[in-house]
Amino acid sequence: MAQRIKNKKGIVMLKIKNHGPVTLFYMGRSPLGFLLYPVHAFLVGDMLIDTGTNRVDKPFLSALTGRSIAKIVNTHHHEDHIGNNGDIQERFKIPIYAHPSALPYLENPRLNALRPYQRIVWAWPKKSKGTAIGASITAGNLHFEVINSPGHTDDHICLYEPDKKWLFSGDLFCGTTFIYLRRDENYLQILETIKKLSALEIDTIFCNLKGVVENGKEALQRKIKKMEQLRDHVLKLQEKGLPPQSIRQEVLGKEDAWNLITGGHYSKQNTIDSILSGKRPDQS
Ligand SMILES: [Zn+2]
Repeated sequence: MAQRIKNKKGIVMLKIKNHGPVTLFYMGRSPLGFLLYPVHAFLVGDMLIDTGTNRVDKPFLSALTGRSIAKIVNTHHHEDHIGNNGDIQERFKIPIYAHPSALPYLENPRLNALRPYQRIVWAWPKKSKGTAIGASITAGNLHFEVINSPGHTDDHICLYEPDKKWLFSGDLFCGTTFIYLRRDENYLQILETIKKLSALEIDTIFCNLKGVVENGKEALQRKIKKMEQLRDHVLKLQEKGLPPQSIRQEVLGKEDAWNLITGGHYSKQNTIDSILSGKRPDQS
């Protein structure tokens, strides 16, 4: 089911589909007929994993009406993952679980100083009250392991269901190709975390950007290979004495619209600089 709606918050789109027992809510602003920068939320058993963007508050809330929801888990504190926490918590009177470091952002979303492009695309989330998540969490007869998975943010968690071989990967996977990095992301830490996750038996990844990704373990292995190749290429050019901007030009080419639109928050140069900084997970 797909809805494109004009509301006070602009023209937005919400698409709902099922993948087995998991319901996918795919949403975002849609001024030109396609989703500008989409994000998923997932309902599995009685557990909602992330709450999408506040731009789509009313359609999403009405799509949840009549569904059985007993808890929310946030994979991390970003505005397109906690966007509707406040309204859903108020409506359903349910707890929200997240990494302890994410809890202050839930209570006060303005701690995450949104840039103009973020406010335009996703808008500010409303306040909500979170509880620190434990090492595991249950949704109906499904049992999820909670895996600390830093790199995209320090407070990022993934949920793994070993019987189903499902991984809910938040913003950690986001496809196998790696070009742009957020200024506050850590390339080498993302690589370490994905390597750790790739040791798991994973059939299906539920990615907040890409949705359903089948053959999940292989997809992670492909991403690791590409990230290692990119890292090695960058370090080889550094050894040759090339400055960071020339390395970016040779490896990833010119900056493009992403750099411009986001004011450098997402850029190719961030990717190169993060690799060159050599920050390992234990040093960040
Ligand atoms: Zn994120």
